[in-house]
Amino acid sequence: MVDAPGASQSFGSCCAELKDAMSGEEFEPLITAGEDGVLYMSVGLIDLEDEEPGMVDHPLFFCPFCGTKLQTVEEVRAKTGGENGADD
Ligand SMILES: [Zn+2]
Repeated sequence: MVDAPGASQSFGSCCAELKDAMSGEEFEPLITAGEDGVLYMSVGLIDLEDEEPGMVDHPLFFCPFCGTKLQTVEEVRAKTGGENGADD
């Protein structure tokens, strides 16, 4: 029994599908763990002036393949510093 050390949880440990989706070698993964330790899923592209199109990311709370709960709103909020103006 080895718990994941430190920051990033072992996202992708719930099923092979998520693991493969996060570590795609033949494609660019749309599901990635951010530096803040939150798992994000890209939901679209946004046009930025003078720049390449950017990815629009949203935190992923449940595995889209097997339905395992990956993180909670509270966890994401704590890791991201509680943005989104939830405190107003
Ligand atoms: Zn899964």
